[in-house]
Amino acid sequence: MALKDAAQYLTCPMCDADVPVSGDEKVAEEIFCPYCQTPLKIRKKRGTEELYLEEDF
Ligand SMILES: [Zn+2]
Repeated sequence: MALKDAAQYLTCPMCDADVPVSGDEKVAEEIFCPYCQTPLKIRKKRGTEELYLEEDF
């Protein structure tokens, strides 16, 4: 199974929790950390397909 097609976890930058994402989220989409309720924006590392979360206050 290709890893990019599987459910994955991104790390919350505020509380270091693993935030589940389905893989269908779009870059720049906003989600909330289920643990600390921080609004987080999905970002993609430049030049890669790797996603990460950034605080979006
Ligand atoms: Zn959090």
